[in-house]
Amino acid sequence: MKADVLILGGGGAGCSAALHLAQRGARVILLERGLVGSQASGVNHGGVRQQGRHPAEIPLALRSRQMWSRMRDICGTDSEFEACGHLKLARNEAEEAELLRWNAKAAEYGLRPRMIGGNAIRTEVPAFSDRVVAGSLLEEDGAANPRLLAPALARVAREAGATILERHAVTGMARQGDDFALEANGETFIAPILLNTAGYWGGRVAATFGEPVPIESLNPNMLVTEPLPAICPHNLGVVGGDVYLRQISRGNVIFGGGRGESDASIPVSRPLPAPAFNAMARAIEILPVLRDAMVIRSWTGIDGGMPDALPVMGPSRTTPGLIHAFGFSGQGFMLGPAVGAVLAELVLDGRSDTSLDGLGIERFAGHAAPAEDPWKTRLE
Ligand SMILES: Cc1cc2nc3c(=O)[nH]c(=O)nc-3n(C[C@H](O)[C@H](O)[C@H](O)COP(=O)(O)OP(=O)(O)OC[C@H]3O[C@@H](n4cnc5c(N)ncnc54)[C@H](O)[C@@H]3O)c2cc1C
Repeated sequence: MKADVLILGGGGAGCSAALHLAQRGARVILLERGLVGSQASGVNHGGVRQQGRHPAEIPLALRSRQMWSRMRDICGTDSEFEACGHLKLARNEAEEAELLRWNAKAAEYGLRPRMIGGNAIRTEVPAFSDRVVAGSLLEEDGAANPRLLAPALARVAREAGATILERHAVTGMARQGDDFALEANGETFIAPILLNTAGYWGGRVAATFGEPVPIESLNPNMLVTEPLPAICPHNLGVVGGDVYLRQISRGNVIFGGGRGESDASIPVSRPLPAPAFNAMARAIEILPVLRDAMVIRSWTGIDGGMPDALPVMGPSRTTPGLIHAFGFSGQGFMLGPAVGAVLAELVLDGRSDTSLDGLGIERFAGHAAPAEDPWKTRLE
């Protein structure tokens, strides 16, 4: 099968790219090993947060946040997006100084987080303990239901003409002249452009084309409580990130902290008890009302974690036609819509107005190649 663009991986990034390319008339084939959105994009915390991001990511985050407001027009569902605000908490003076430092930086990008002092914050959220000394609230941040986004983007991409093939694990790839040839389910898929949106597994794709990167499997440990009376209307984070919480409209509190474990070659992941208990303790420290809450489920997922916690995004430095967008380091659900829009611009216009400075793969030049041919590893 031939196309203009092959997309390897059907998470939020790949599905959004398929949609934006197909809407502009490109012939697109997306190959997904499982179901679209079945990996990190479908199991994450659902945070739609600009607050606290590294400056290199802020342009993408700003663009994505604009798209979240239009999500129903973009893909037929708002994915339960709610701009409930993200309140990042400080538990000591050093953390408060960190909030102020980021807020000053954010102002350069037009973001206006509101600092709330120790007294005012307990007026705003009476459930906070004395451990909370200050907070920074970015009111336009929010949360969405991660189960809904990638399937909705894929559905609209199909309607726009994209070929989205689920249960198609790419088990090999090669250059064929100026084209890429991907093998999946015994078929060969050919196109001159390849988008590497394979999440954690994107590291293997990059290594195949002579660009190994120090990626690790990142498995945020998640929990959810039984439904509880209203506690706090905002998403909560803390400086340092050892716990984060949000209460959905049904009353359940979804929270996380620490890491689970995974075997990305199968791929499966599972939460671990020690980080789960630690996250519960950290949550109770700031919200004592959670002391008697029943945790009803725990889970994790597999994302690509980079050493600098920034994604790899932009053209390959070794292979014309290959464009990377992977390694979102636990923060890529919010970015997915804009990532796809920018990828489509890079393919069709050769450029994007959204800055990718600091995200290119060249920052890992010199990283040693893995000893084994990455495609000898089982990829299904
Ligand atoms: C538990 C958890 C909590 C998180 N919380 C948040 C949060 O609150 N906010 C936020 O913004 N981000 C969060 N993240 C991060 C976010 O989920 C990810 O960064 C983002 O979803 C990555 O999207 P992606 O499209 O790059 O990758 P993925 O969603 O992993 O998609 C990549 C796809 O590629 C496919 N693939 C891989 N190899 C092959 C192959 N050989 N053949 C075919 N297909 C292949 C995979 O099956 C997968 O579906 C969290 C992540 C986790 C795991």
